[in-house]
Amino acid sequence: MESWDVVVVGGGPAGAAAALAARRHGASVLVLDRSDFPRDKVCGDGIAPEALDVLAALGVDVDAVTAGYPAVPRLRLTSPSGRTVERAMHRPAVVVPRAVLDGRVLAAALDAGAQFRRHTVRRVTTGPAGVDVDGVLTAGVLIGADGAESVVRRALGIGPNRPDRLAIAIRGYAPAGDPGVQVITTTDQRWPAYAWSFPIGDGRANVGYGELVSGGATRAGLLEGLHRLLPGTAPEQLRAHRLPLSTGRPRQPDGRVLLAGDAVSLINPMTGEGIFYAVLSGALAGAAAAHGADAGRVFRTALQRRLGRHLQHTAAASRLSSRPWLMDAAFGAAAADQRVFDDVVALGLADGRLTARTLGSAVASLSRRAPRPRC
Ligand SMILES: Cc1cc2nc3c(=O)[nH]c(=O)nc-3n(C[C@H](O)[C@H](O)[C@H](O)COP(=O)(O)OP(=O)(O)OC[C@H]3O[C@@H](n4cnc5c(N)ncnc54)[C@H](O)[C@@H]3O)c2cc1C
Repeated sequence: MESWDVVVVGGGPAGAAAALAARRHGASVLVLDRSDFPRDKVCGDGIAPEALDVLAALGVDVDAVTAGYPAVPRLRLTSPSGRTVERAMHRPAVVVPRAVLDGRVLAAALDAGAQFRRHTVRRVTTGPAGVDVDGVLTAGVLIGADGAESVVRRALGIGPNRPDRLAIAIRGYAPAGDPGVQVITTTDQRWPAYAWSFPIGDGRANVGYGELVSGGATRAGLLEGLHRLLPGTAPEQLRAHRLPLSTGRPRQPDGRVLLAGDAVSLINPMTGEGIFYAVLSGALAGAAAAHGADAGRVFRTALQRRLGRHLQHTAAASRLSSRPWLMDAAFGAAAADQRVFDDVVALGLADGRLTARTLGSAVASLSRRAPRPRC
C-alpha cells in the first residue's frame, strides 16, 4: 500500500500550513481534498495580520499571497445598543476572497514539496505502525484539517460542538461602501449576533450575518438579520456555513491523528475569526508530526503553550459578553482609548488577552452611564 510520512486531509489554511510545516521537517507530505483548487470557501475573507505572520514564518511570500488586495486600515464597531467606535487598527487587515487566498497558500505548500490529490476521505483507522486512509494509503501521522464537519474528528470519536458553541453565518458579495473600513455591527436581537462588511478593494465587499445555532437559526432568519443590520445591501453569491467556536479547551487525543483549524473548533467565539487559528494550529500540527506515535501529545502541549491562555480569555470574554450592556461598556471604553481598542482587536482577531485595562475601562464606562438594566 502507498505510504507517506504525513497525510493532511483538507487543503484549506490549516491543511496548507500543516503541509508547509511538515515539509520543513523533511517529511513526505500528501494533501488530500475533496475539491480541486482554487475553490471557494464560505467566509468573511478578513485576514488578520497575525495569520500572515504565521505563513511568513513558514517561508510563504505573503506579499504574493495578498497581491491585488489592498490593506484595510480602519475598523468600525457598533455595539448592541448602537454605540459606534471607528479607529485605525494597530496593524491593517487585508480582505482576500478565499477562492484566491486558499489556492495561493496551497500552491506555496506544493512549491515546498508537498503533493496534492483530489480525494474525499471517508474512513480513517489507526493501527500500531500508522494510520490507514480508506484502505488505499497509510500515513505515519494523519492531520485532520477538514473543516467544520470534519470526518477525521468523527473517526476519533469526538462529537460536534454543542449548539451554543456552534454558529452559522451567511455571506455574499455586494457593492462596497468606504474601501478603507471594515465594519462590524452587533445587535441585541438574537444576541450574540452580528453583521459585517469587509471591502475587498475591487469595489465590492464581503457582507454577511451570523448567530448561534442554539437560537434556532434559519436561512430566512439569517437573511433578515443581514438586511436589518446592513440596510440597502443586495448581495450575490449568498451561501451559509457553520462555525465551530472555541470552547477554550481543544480536544486533541494522544496518538498519530492530529486535528487542526475548524476540525478542532478553534474559531474565536467573540468574532468568528478562524483563519489565524487555522494556520497557527496547522503549523504546530505539521511540526509535531515528526514525533510519530507521540505526535498527539506533543501537538496538544504545543497548542496549549502557544494559545492556551488566549483561549481561556476568549472563553471568559464570551461568557461576559452574554450581557449586551457589558459589550456596550467595552465598546465605550474602546471609543475612549486607542489602547483599549487595540486590546479588544487583539483578543478578537489574534492571540490577545482580556486585559486589566479593558476590564477597568469598561467598568469605568459603565459607571459613567445611566443605571444598568436589570437582568
Ligand atoms: C460565513 C463565515 C464567515 C467567516 N469569516 C471569517 C473571517 O472574515 N475571517 C476569518 O479569519 N475567519 C472567518 N471565518 C472562519 C474561517 O472561514 C474558518 O475558520 C477557516 O476556513 C478554517 O480553515 P480550515 O483550514 O480549518 O478549514 P476549511 O477552510 O473549511 O478547509 C477544509 C478543507 O477540507 C476539505 N474537506 C472537508 N472534508 C473532506 C473530506 N472528507 N475529504 C477530503 N477533504 C475534505 C474541504 O474541501 C476544505 O478544502 C468565517 C466562517 C464563516 C462560515
